[in-house]
Amino acid sequence: MDIVFVSAEVAPYSKAGGLADVAGSLPQALTPYAGSVRVITPFYGDIDRNKYQITSTKITGQIKMGKESVPYEVFQSTPQDSEMLIWFIGCDQYYSRPGIYTEANGEGFSDNNNRYFFFQLVVLDLIRSGSVSADILHCNDHHTGLLPVLMKVAKIDVKTVFTIHNFLYHGHFSDVDLSLLPEGTSAYLQTTQWDNYSALLEAIDHSQVITTVSPGYARELLDGENVDDHSLTRIKLAASRFSGIVNGIDQEYWSPELDDFTPFHFNKHDLEGKRKNKRELLIKSGLELDLDAPVFGSISRLVENKGFLLILDLLDEFVERGAKFIFLGSGNPEIAEQLRQACNKHPRHIAFDDGFNEPLAHLIEAGSDLFLMPSRFEPCGLNQLYSLRYGTIPIVHRTGGLGDTVEPWTAETGTGFLFQPYKTKELRQAMDQALHVYSSDSLWKALMVRAMSQDFSWDRSARQYYQLYQDRK
Ligand code: ADP
Repeated sequence: MDIVFVSAEVAPYSKAGGLADVAGSLPQALTPYAGSVRVITPFYGDIDRNKYQITSTKITGQIKMGKESVPYEVFQSTPQDSEMLIWFIGCDQYYSRPGIYTEANGEGFSDNNNRYFFFQLVVLDLIRSGSVSADILHCNDHHTGLLPVLMKVAKIDVKTVFTIHNFLYHGHFSDVDLSLLPEGTSAYLQTTQWDNYSALLEAIDHSQVITTVSPGYARELLDGENVDDHSLTRIKLAASRFSGIVNGIDQEYWSPELDDFTPFHFNKHDLEGKRKNKRELLIKSGLELDLDAPVFGSISRLVENKGFLLILDLLDEFVERGAKFIFLGSGNPEIAEQLRQACNKHPRHIAFDDGFNEPLAHLIEAGSDLFLMPSRFEPCGLNQLYSLRYGTIPIVHRTGGLGDTVEPWTAETGTGFLFQPYKTKELRQAMDQALHVYSSDSLWKALMVRAMSQDFSWDRSARQYYQLYQDRK
């Protein structure tokens, strides 16, 4: 079985969010089951060619984009200790600039539709020409959502699988964009209620297998939670092809024992390093060096649905009760400004790093006591899984993948604190309960050990994906 996995982001080469983590680790976990696994992604300008020993395959081609003919070149890299190949699609016009989806100021590139149409047309070209052999074409999110229909139009016999990492982003496009696609494509497409097209919904209509990244989120989508009526009709028509598989994590890259970014390694049998990391984190963040105070960490894109409104409501109150907060994130300027104001008000208790910072993300996981992830909705969520690995106890809204992966605390069981409904009062109660447990060394230690004993390796999920690849044609 030749598996081709197509994604707009792949860690560690390019990353804006969880999609990159999945694309960087699921394909690797599929290698024991497959004849070959190949990941295809754009060759963005920020990707370090030397560091990853990326070389040209000498495969080149041209794609007709309206009146223009735009050239591409395929580059490749083989990650260390891996049997899979990463193919990068190079194209000066679309990918050599810095950034994945946005300008430095956070504004989306104005030609994003062209950039991802081009990307998909290159993948089509590579499969059609035989440069790539594919039994399974696994597409991810709207940037690759048109590939299933492109395969139908081109009458290519490949099983198409589509994974929804986030239903919020549709990749809407217009009739003008449509003219870039091969003749005959429009007959397969359906307009939305806004008279445009959604690459995400096209993927749902045309893929043979549709998955999302947790069973809980699959249920929510089928129940129409946060889904408009038009989309729900199309999801319901696809219900028999729809399922949820919870994401795994790269347990070596996110490991308190192996992590290069963690200054003091630790494990569930020896937690001494955790306290030293906490010290390091407090010093680095410029916060008061009180090692007994509970430290809440947060690493997140700054968007409304990650629950910042609830958190911001509670900061003053919990700071007064002695808690510390360390935020890392970038995105919405208004949320960033509110976090900055909170820091200015409590400079020794609240820290905020506005940016994308992989080493700091690891240190926050390693050094915090608790992890705040009160997302309004969350398809899977990865940071709560990383947190469990580091004994950093997650406080989460019971939704989607958060509800599937964090078990509510009781004196003898559970791995974190959950709340529902999505309201400040309920989050406060969960934080209260967490602090109550934190005040007992023995209960807290037992909770950390339970959290650190969870297994979220990719193997189980990879087997489920493989089963789906085999099941249906
Ligand atoms: P989403 O995909 O919705 O952003 P996930 O929890 O699934 O949320 O994945 C987010 C990933 O991005 C995690 O690996 C997280 O550590 C990382 N991340 C998010 N923001 C930052 C940041 N500012 N700096 C470093 N890593 C970040």
